[in-house]
Amino acid sequence: MTLVFATNNANKVKEVQALIPEHIRVLSLADINCSEDIPETQDTIEGNAIQKAEYVKEHYGYECFADDTGLEIDALKGEPGVFSARYAGPQRNAEDNMAKVLDKLKTETDRSAQFKTVIALTLKSDTKTFTGICKGEITTTKQGDAGFGYDPVFKPEGYLQTFAEMSLSEKNKIGHRGKAVSLLIEYLKTL
Ligand code: IMP
Repeated sequence: MTLVFATNNANKVKEVQALIPEHIRVLSLADINCSEDIPETQDTIEGNAIQKAEYVKEHYGYECFADDTGLEIDALKGEPGVFSARYAGPQRNAEDNMAKVLDKLKTETDRSAQFKTVIALTLKSDTKTFTGICKGEITTTKQGDAGFGYDPVFKPEGYLQTFAEMSLSEKNKIGHRGKAVSLLIEYLKTL
């Protein structure tokens, strides 16, 4: 089976490739010569995942899965959520985004948050979604330099380290994307 993973993020391809069974051939957007920006104009994480997967299917003819992830912070009423990538502005800079989060929570004692990943999969004429959630809290300072995005300020529940202080395999075991990918794989095995 061949599926396109609709992302340009090399970190995510690496994370997902480590989880997907070898008999499923996963192509990247580069592999199918898709270099344009895929529209992400919906107002929910789920909506954006579906929009991306269906765009690739419609324009390139490949069955496709796409993910969309957001960091939802309780004290900020679910922000940055669907705006996680561009929280501090259109430059989509992880350092700026983390600085904004830490600043907004400066005097906040409730630091609970969750990462949510939704994967949308097109197959034949159907689109299915798989959701993975990882609960945790926002630290008061950045810790660690592995991973990407908000990893240095997110400490998963029950752990003393942030995602950025963990190995990729540790993060995959407990992380939001790992959980969503596991649900995707379980489904693919039933086909
Ligand atoms: P996207 O939906 O994967 O594009 O992610 C939206 C935003 O969340 C971007 O700012 C990413 O850097 C961030 N993000 C996505 N996944 C993770 C993760 O596993 N750890 C930390 N930040 C992430």
